[in-house]
Amino acid sequence: MERYDIAIIGAGPAGLSAAIYAARGGLKTIVFEKGLIGGQIVVTADVENYPGFDENVTGFEIMEKMRLQALKFDALIVEEAVKGIGFEGLCKIIETDEKQYRVKSIIIASGAHPRKLNVPGEERFIGRGVSYCATCDGALYRNKIVAVNGGGDSAVEEALFLTRFVEKVYLIHRRDQLRAVHAIQQRAFKNPKIEIIWDSVIQEIDGDKQVEKLILFNRKTEKVSTLEVNGLFIYIGIIPNNQLFESRIDLDNQGFVITNDNMETNIPGVYAAGDIRQKLLRQVVTATADGAIAAFAAEKWIEENAEALARHYNEK
Ligand code: NAP
Repeated sequence: MERYDIAIIGAGPAGLSAAIYAARGGLKTIVFEKGLIGGQIVVTADVENYPGFDENVTGFEIMEKMRLQALKFDALIVEEAVKGIGFEGLCKIIETDEKQYRVKSIIIASGAHPRKLNVPGEERFIGRGVSYCATCDGALYRNKIVAVNGGGDSAVEEALFLTRFVEKVYLIHRRDQLRAVHAIQQRAFKNPKIEIIWDSVIQEIDGDKQVEKLILFNRKTEKVSTLEVNGLFIYIGIIPNNQLFESRIDLDNQGFVITNDNMETNIPGVYAAGDIRQKLLRQVVTATADGAIAAFAAEKWIEENAEALARHYNEK
């Protein structure tokens, strides 16, 4: 069995920041990533609020620098999906398809994934007009008409991004006020290519081979209408990636991990950082801060429990 001081699950901003701090602090560090190294932010075209970058920078550029920085301090980043976590002993076990690892401490930085709308037509048209990633698919809709569903930062930012390509964006929101921060809202209100459809939900996505129309329901007037579009981008929130541990770690009612200020979960030696945590503000800057704190706290915990951990760590 391979042995590491610390295992970090997820190589997004929280995971890579934790890896930089842990490895730089002298811990033998391994990071597991089953998807994109860099996490969800990698598919964001412009990041304008990460401190230190006065010119816009892409999510990919920021995350590539974090990846290289983690490697510089000798963190190992492996593209293996974690299949199981054993929290029972003082040392923990991580299982992937390939191997088992014994570790002293774990930082969960497994992030979140986009929520689905769950309406007729959604599954059928994924990749044929339905998308969850404007950065990936936006350019396919040059001079076309698209809709974005949602009223949060993601929906409004991505609607703005899509205006670079498309003729028109309908932003469909279920209430009469956006949830996105003021500055982004103002940019959307001023953009002539964006029309907001208030108080409305999508009941159905329809078309032949590609998306052609949406059936909308106005919650105030209770009227049903049809909106002709070539594509639909869904940004209606995120769901925590908690399947590996949901029955064993304390979660809030939405499934996000509850931690204290030191990122400690209810299990000694297990920490959580980034979007997987219950928190007010989900941003790269807060994810990286979480990662740094979690790594520092884990390092202290390992130090304090060094003797007992050494016995378990060396077991076969
Ligand atoms: P979010 O803030 O949770 O917003 C989700 C939006 O979708 C809300 O407007 C919500 O409506 C709507 N919604 C939820 N379920 C729906 C349903 N079933 N049908 C229709 N509409 C539905 O999610 P997000 O925009 O993906 O952002 C996730 C997190 O990342 C947030 O913390 C956000 O601040 C952060 N983020 C930050 C930035 C940035 O700072 N640059 C960029 C992107 C994301 P209601 O408003 O009515 O609830």
